[in-house]
Amino acid sequence: MPRGIAQPGSALALGARGRRFESYYPDQFVDVAEWLRNGLQIRFMQVQVLSSTPINKYILKEEIMNNSTKLLSIHIFCHIMIVPAILYGEWWMWGFSFLWWQWVAATSISSGYHRYFSHNSFKTGNWYSWYSQFIALFANPGPVLTWASTHRMHHYYSDTEKDPHSPVFKGFWKVYTSYWGNDIKYIERRATVGLLKRPGVKWFYKNYYKVILLLAIILIIIDPLVFIFLMAIPIVLAFHGYGLINAWTHKTGKPTNSALANLLTGGEGWHENHHKRPGDWKIGKKWWQVDTGSYWIRLIKNENNYKHN
Ligand SMILES: [Zn+2]
Ligand SMILES: [Zn+2]
Repeated sequence: MPRGIAQPGSALALGARGRRFESYYPDQFVDVAEWLRNGLQIRFMQVQVLSSTPINKYILKEEIMNNSTKLLSIHIFCHIMIVPAILYGEWWMWGFSFLWWQWVAATSISSGYHRYFSHNSFKTGNWYSWYSQFIALFANPGPVLTWASTHRMHHYYSDTEKDPHSPVFKGFWKVYTSYWGNDIKYIERRATVGLLKRPGVKWFYKNYYKVILLLAIILIIIDPLVFIFLMAIPIVLAFHGYGLINAWTHKTGKPTNSALANLLTGGEGWHENHHKRPGDWKIGKKWWQVDTGSYWIRLIKNENNYKHN
């Protein structure tokens, strides 16, 4: 059998893991143990091997999703931090925290995770890939590989049963609180195309939780209040901002605009506009539709073009 072709019904076609590959095709997969040690790389190689099988379009959830329980635990912990924030914080700290979140949302999550990684809607230097993924840690969106591929799935199937987070099919509060990925069975391979070519994507996928923990510890050592207002409160705001985008703007079964969601997401609230032209780096269309993400993109993009996905 040619390398990389799996027969339907074989262990390979059923999505078997590396060791079973070895037992089926020992001569073709001699370095399976090495691949397994390399983690992600082997997983994607497996997917490529699977690409000619009837189930080729699917990457099983375990192959791409990071541990969403960890992601949710961080959100819960940060919500608890609201108590010391109220007890020990000053009013200006709340104001600063909100402005910092606006910066994180506009320059990293909205323009980076969403428009740059998920939709390739503008081009810029490689520095931005690293910048966006690092600054995103202050919002805890999870690794961009998971976020962007899940989001592409949302666009492929929005407001249908296959939508990874449709409030109509999965329930409003479940979608509102699941925050990218709790209930996703699989990601299609096409939804990951190009992501791993971007600098730092694989590194952040592997090291996300270590880096976010390290960042939190450094901030706590500087001062617990620095951690609370620079990281914990923005993470809470991100949780609710994107909860609103996923659940509120799709609650009727089709995308709608929401000024409230926009206030918490750096320009993402004009979600109906976005679904009409997903590849457009400008989401706010009318003069009054504030879109801070696009203001940032205007500063950093290398060329004027944008493509439509
Ligand atoms: Zn949507
Ligand atoms: Zn989108």
